[in-house]
Amino acid sequence: MAVIGFIGLGNMGGPMAANLVKAGHQVVGYDLVPAAVEAAGAAGVTIGDSPAAIAAAAEVVITMLPGGKHVLSVYGDIAPVARPGTLLIDCSTIDVDSARKAHALATGTGAASLDAPVSGGVGGAAAGTLTFMAGGEADAFERARPILEAMGKKIVHCGGAGAGQAAKICNNMILGISMIGVCEAFVLAEKLGLSHQALFDVSSTSSGQCWSLTSYCPVPGPVPASPANRDYQPGFAAALMLKDLKLAQEAAQSAGAPTPLGAAAAQLYALMNAQGDGGTDFSGIIRMLRGEG
Ligand code: NAD
Repeated sequence: MAVIGFIGLGNMGGPMAANLVKAGHQVVGYDLVPAAVEAAGAAGVTIGDSPAAIAAAAEVVITMLPGGKHVLSVYGDIAPVARPGTLLIDCSTIDVDSARKAHALATGTGAASLDAPVSGGVGGAAAGTLTFMAGGEADAFERARPILEAMGKKIVHCGGAGAGQAAKICNNMILGISMIGVCEAFVLAEKLGLSHQALFDVSSTSSGQCWSLTSYCPVPGPVPASPANRDYQPGFAAALMLKDLKLAQEAAQSAGAPTPLGAAAAQLYALMNAQGDGGTDFSGIIRMLRGEG
C-alpha cells in the first residue's frame, strides 16, 4: 500500500481521501479550512504541515482543488520538492491550458503526471463509484489505476496531458445543451396541452431520447429518482454546470472550435446563477424557461 498525499479535502476530496484510507493506504492530507481538516482526520487521514512537506514524503500526491489557479499554485510548491518518480494526480475540474501547465511543472522536475477529473458528484465520491477521465502518459495511468479504483468504478485513459479535462468539459457541454433542449420541449408541451408523461413515453423511445430525459427527467413523475421530484435539490448544482460550461467556452476559444449552442447554454446557466438559483439542481433551469421566479 502506498503513502498518498491528498491536498484539498473539501466536499469531494474529503470522502475520496477517506476511501483511500479504507482501501488500506496511508493518506497524508492538507486543506486550508479547519473543518475540512477535522473531518478528514476523523476519517483516518493524517494531517500534514504543508503541501510541500507532504510531497517530499509521498509516493503519490492527489489534488482536488476548486480551479486552475489553485492547482498551479500548489504544483508550484510541490513539483520542485517531490522525489523523482513521484506520481502527481490532479482530480480537480480545471481548464485544459492550466492542466497542461501543471503537467509541464510536474514532468519538468522528474515527476509523473496525470489529469484525472471525475464525474459522479459528492454521492459518487462517498460511495467510491466515481468515473475518472485521465490524461497523461500510459505508464503514469497504469500506476494510477489501482489507486483510482479505490475511489471509483470506471477509469478511462483519454489520451495525453489535458485529455481528461478535455473529455470532462466536452461531456458536460453535451449535458448542459441537452438538458436545456429537454426542458424547452417540456415547456412547449405544457403550452400545447400535452402531458409530461405522454411526451416522456414518446421521446424516451424515439429520436429525442437522451440521458437528460431518460435518467434525469426535469419534470416530476416519469423518472422518480430525478431531482425534479425533490424540488430540484442537487444532484449537480447549476453553479457547477456553469463552471464547466465556462471552461468549455475558454477551451473552444483557445482551440478555435465553433460552439454556438455551448455558448448559449453558458449564458442561460449564468442567468440562472444571477437569479440566485446556483445552488439548485441544473435541471431546475426548466423553471426559469417557464418564467417562474
Ligand atoms: P470544495 O470547495 O468543497 O473543496 C475544495 C477544497 O480545496 C476546499 O476545502 C478548499 O479549502 C481547498 N483548497 C483551496 N485551495 C487550497 C490550497 N491552496 N491548499 C489546500 N487546500 C486548498 O469543492 P469540491 O466540491 O470538493 O470540488 C473540488 C473539485 O472537484 C472542483 O474542481 C470541482 O469542480 C470538482 N467536482 C466537483 C463535483 C461536485 O459535485 N462537488 C463533481 C465533479 C467535480
